[in-house]
Amino acid sequence: MKLQGKIVFVTGASAGIGAATAMAFAGEGAKLLLAARRVEKLAEIADEARKYGAQDIHTFALDVRDNDAVVAAIAALPEGWREIEVLVNNAGLSRGLEKVYEGKISDWDEMIDTNVKGLLYVTRAVVPGMVERKSGHVINLGSIAGHITYPNGAVYCATKAAEKAINDGLRQDVLGTPIRVTSVDPGMVQTDFSLVRFHGDEDRAGNVYKGVKALTAEDIADVILWAATRPAHVNIADVVLTPVQQANPYMLVRD
Ligand code: NAP
Repeated sequence: MKLQGKIVFVTGASAGIGAATAMAFAGEGAKLLLAARRVEKLAEIADEARKYGAQDIHTFALDVRDNDAVVAAIAALPEGWREIEVLVNNAGLSRGLEKVYEGKISDWDEMIDTNVKGLLYVTRAVVPGMVERKSGHVINLGSIAGHITYPNGAVYCATKAAEKAINDGLRQDVLGTPIRVTSVDPGMVQTDFSLVRFHGDEDRAGNVYKGVKALTAEDIADVILWAATRPAHVNIADVVLTPVQQANPYMLVRD
């Protein structure tokens, strides 16, 4: 698949994997639709993506937890921005690391509303256009956490197990169309993910990556781009990748 001039929509493009994905597709000369809640960060990412070669960029504020906002944002896309070829459902987060019987309800709501319902809302708004045009690729951010539950992470792991089920279900739903559906499931990636999980506690977040050469956001963007650029008849169903020092979510060797 050639991506020159194609519209690529990345949710959660203001940081981490989403921002790196924007750069990767910019390098292919794609037209980028970039959304997140922090618009000032999106503006910085857009400036950088222009330097990487994006053909054009349209940014907008979006909280994927708000279905009305998602529907309105997709309906309000300007002329020339409606034919989304690649949707990267990346917006997501973890909150807290606690036993289920001690967890915070507000943390659970935020994870489930973003990682599961938000992903569904955006998919529901974008995929009908793909079906109508008989063209498109949905790439969802899963996690090894969706394959194996780790201690104190039941709810985050549940959201990523849901992502896996939705990814597999959507692929069945679009069978008979040329639309492709992919899940990219990383292990430990060094981004703001842990800072967000620990509500801004930098020391605690820093400890997560101590003594490990973690994956980078660019490593994940590379895989997303790879999946998107296979020949049109090839569907990459699922890619699992970890740092060499990580065997699964709770087996990690530190230096
Ligand atoms: P990150 O650096 O914290 O970036 C998360 C992005 O999601 C930000 O751009 C954030 O933007 C956006 N976001 C969060 N809530 C949102 C909402 N309600 N509406 C719209 N955007 C929202 O974390 P990351 O590591 O790049 O995470 C990206 C994805 O990879 C997530 O789905 C995560 O679960 C998955 N993942 C991460 C790892 C890892 O170890 N880092 C491993 C496996 C999977 P705003 O705050 O500006 O809205």
